[in-house]
Amino acid sequence: TKLALKDPKLLETCAYVDGKWVASENTFPVYNPANGNLIARVADMNVADTSDAIDAAYAAKKAWAEWTGKERAAVLRKWYDLMVEHADDLATILTAEMGKPWPEARGEILYGASFIEWFAEEAKRIYGDVIPGHQRDKRIVVLKQPVGVVGSITPWNFPNAMIARKVAPALAVGCTFVARPAELTPLSALAMAVLGERAGIPAGVFNVIPSSDSSGVGKELCRNEKVAKITFTGSTRVGKILMSQCSDTIKKMSLELGGNAPFIVFDDADIDAAVEGAMIAKYRNNGQTCVCANRIYVQAGVYDAFAEKLKARVSGLSIGDGFGDGVTTGPLINEAAMDKVEDHIADAVNKGASVIEGGGRSELGGTFFNPTVLTGVTRDMKVAREETFGPVAPLFRFEDENDVIAMANDSEFGLASYFYSRDLARVWRVAEALESGMVGVNTGLISTEVAPFGGIKQSGLGREGSKYGTEDYLEVKYLCIGEI
Ligand code: ADP
Repeated sequence: TKLALKDPKLLETCAYVDGKWVASENTFPVYNPANGNLIARVADMNVADTSDAIDAAYAAKKAWAEWTGKERAAVLRKWYDLMVEHADDLATILTAEMGKPWPEARGEILYGASFIEWFAEEAKRIYGDVIPGHQRDKRIVVLKQPVGVVGSITPWNFPNAMIARKVAPALAVGCTFVARPAELTPLSALAMAVLGERAGIPAGVFNVIPSSDSSGVGKELCRNEKVAKITFTGSTRVGKILMSQCSDTIKKMSLELGGNAPFIVFDDADIDAAVEGAMIAKYRNNGQTCVCANRIYVQAGVYDAFAEKLKARVSGLSIGDGFGDGVTTGPLINEAAMDKVEDHIADAVNKGASVIEGGGRSELGGTFFNPTVLTGVTRDMKVAREETFGPVAPLFRFEDENDVIAMANDSEFGLASYFYSRDLARVWRVAEALESGMVGVNTGLISTEVAPFGGIKQSGLGREGSKYGTEDYLEVKYLCIGEI
């Protein structure tokens, strides 16, 4: 199928290595999850190609690091401007390959672009430090230097923003970059590279290598000594594989891994606001984000009212092709995602939960799933432990604040958590007690380029966005200067 693009050149199918568009005799298909149609076939880079891209990034790193922060900032700013200018086309490519509703895709493009804007600004402010010396004839100066070549592996759920959040700080501080986008969604990454080239990013600084061989390419990125750092967003399972593969070369790592976010509604909450927050935290991107509310704990006094109101809002969601008017909920990414959602619902129902909304596949067929609300959910069910990554809101009932904190923290994950309360003392108590890198208090939407995104426990290492976001891409070096 042909996409309706104002600038058809944004639909690129070659890899981008060392400033050149590289075709391959091997290609792999990219399908539209809403209808199964083939969108394009994309160059399939292998391990040797990966090594070439790493060589290109390695060769480019010295010159790029020598650019002033202001010079790098100008290029990133131009890239940001081009992404905003082409947001409609980028959203069209994104919806086609990933399925999310077009307005949401456009929102992701602007969100991704906001990181490029932010780090363009930060590029000029990578300050070192001067430390009072420990001896009279000594001076101590701290330099911040780019780590070098960064290898990136990203998932399909935010095909643009997950790359933007990584490449923007990396390039801003003077690193060079090899991106391996998810095999389901390489077109958004390649479109970013088209605009990066137009913005004037020098050859070798930003490389994109689509590949169907995730483990082969991943291993090369992890093992190659020219790569200084791996930045990964994806499952905890794969994050562990990458971490062990990186141990041979002691690579730096940033990991944004799985979550299992609790969403707590206390009796003193504004229930309507909590329902709106839950709609965003649960059903945005069809439940396919790592910060999605996975376990919704509602205090006994408001449980029934919350369940009723949530059901009413969920029944108003409009499922369909992401290009359709008014569609709020696209398809799930693939059949495996459908199976997991069905399995979690069946397991909960077998153990006593009730489906009060949705509960099964949509009559639209394909990978469309009816947004679901479950009541009577208990901690022995799979939904209490595993990330569902789909449109299922399981409502647990609780009585006591300490109990719900213990339940919320009873997870190996610690990415996001959310709670609703209007009691100031409780807000502080609970916010401090929750074991997660991010806490939404009376809000269901926490993602922004100005704040540090990241997890604790097995949800990952490092932070993306904000003034902290450059640190992941910098080494600290100090000079001890004597004989003064
Ligand atoms: P998700 O469920 O979000 O797809 P995954 O962790 O499975 O999470 O995938 C995230 C990214 O990691 C994808 O681009 C995928 O292709 C890639 N990937 C999967 N397995 C490996 C591996 N063994 N080595 C490197 N990358 C991998």
